[in-house]
Amino acid sequence: MSRILIAEDESRISSFVDKGLRAAGFTTTVVATGTDALELALSGAADLLVLDIGLPGIDGYEVMRRLRAAGSSLPVIVLTARTSAEDTLASLEGGANDYMPKPFRFDELLARIRLRLSDATRSAEPRLVVGELELDLHARTVLVDGAEVELSAREFSLAEELMRHAGKVLSREQLLSRVWGYDFDPGSNVVDVYVGYLRAKLGAARIETVRGMGYRLR
Ligand code: CA
Repeated sequence: MSRILIAEDESRISSFVDKGLRAAGFTTTVVATGTDALELALSGAADLLVLDIGLPGIDGYEVMRRLRAAGSSLPVIVLTARTSAEDTLASLEGGANDYMPKPFRFDELLARIRLRLSDATRSAEPRLVVGELELDLHARTVLVDGAEVELSAREFSLAEELMRHAGKVLSREQLLSRVWGYDFDPGSNVVDVYVGYLRAKLGAARIETVRGMGYRLR
């Protein structure tokens, strides 16, 4: 799971964000000064930084400036009490990926964190290649033996999951949870149906049925 660094000197806010993120399954670290935020952010110990602008010591703008000057592309979401357009612009120009004006609702912050993390994953890893299969995660296109094949969004996600674990067996439950977001088996054969669609498009022999266990991409 992703590691979130929270830099906020108001303990009421940092503990509220911290609890929420831990409940959502993230690993968190809370710091209350700009110096600590910068040091940890540069150490590579976080996947995303939630950064308050008004911090003691060096402020959020300065943390961001030094972070970017050091070549870090760590996603940063700025928390600001100031809602003026100028401050927003300054944050974004200073290298923030997003901003949240205070007061904010936790679910809005969570949505932005998830979005920025998925952007970061995608740009770090723009394509997946397994044998003659190639998935471009930016363009959402698929090449099979060099020819482009049309996949629906769900087929694309299923292909991505199988390719990320090529050579390993994925159970129906794992695929249901990761591709469909179900933490239960709805009692349908939706996984088998979609594996059938993918076989028709990618080549039947590429996806093996492992009896009693699940599916495996060769
Ligand atoms: Ca503050």
